[in-house]
Amino acid sequence: MKLDWVLKKGIYACHGVVSEPSTDLFLHRNLITEKDFVNHLDSLEYPYVDINDALLGRGSALTLDDATAASFKAALIARSFGHEVTLFVNPYNIEFRRPYFFHQLNFFLSHTRLDVITFMDRTFKLNTNKEKQRFRRFVKEILRRSPDESEKAEILNVLGESLGVEKNKVADEGNTITKNDVSELLGKGVRIENHGWSHACPNSMTVDRLREEILKSKRWLEREFGIKSNMYAAPFGDTVPKFFERDHLFRFWFTSMDYLNQGFIGKQVYNRWNLEV
Ligand SMILES: [Zn+2]
Repeated sequence: MKLDWVLKKGIYACHGVVSEPSTDLFLHRNLITEKDFVNHLDSLEYPYVDINDALLGRGSALTLDDATAASFKAALIARSFGHEVTLFVNPYNIEFRRPYFFHQLNFFLSHTRLDVITFMDRTFKLNTNKEKQRFRRFVKEILRRSPDESEKAEILNVLGESLGVEKNKVADEGNTITKNDVSELLGKGVRIENHGWSHACPNSMTVDRLREEILKSKRWLEREFGIKSNMYAAPFGDTVPKFFERDHLFRFWFTSMDYLNQGFIGKQVYNRWNLEV
């Protein structure tokens, strides 16, 4: 056990685990190897506490973002070791059985056999990982700018066709969980909170639209599961609220920017660090 983990209290974020890590750079991007995750959980002297306790400085908390099989698995593993854990979900993806666009994009890049692609009037080489990463950044920015899920799906359809890959497939770990899965997590003591209705970037929409996104998700959590959510983790983790909270859309807004301090960066804004194990 590392000493700094005993002394360092804070809230950590991750995107779940993968049991068989791929050597491919894109397929399991941002996911932790299950073995490393288990070793980490097993090695902690003090268990992760509930996020509300961590906000009061009474220990460290573990959070997971996105309603995927990877997060589902990580949440159950954490509970099996006696840790508290919070999962931030997007009801749109669960309700409509839609994959997250970045998981589709990762799958595309790991499976395409093309050497070069022209997309949105720009030409990109795809021979090396570096070239693929450059292309990924370009596409991701375009998709981030759109708050509209059907527009994003359309762009991904065109892209999948151009790249010659299966369009609606993602790696198994990227599959979206079901409402039954959410019930199972709740039954195992996982806290479920709000990651926005869809995974649209808060910066891509007007303040009114953003309020709507947060509220719609909050209402869904209450209607479907009786959850009274008061925590919102911003999709992509790098935006802060442009409005002060008067109408109880959330009590805490979470970001995840490794280049800022871990902890409160505003009255209601808490910056998480990504979990590195
Ligand atoms: Zn997310």
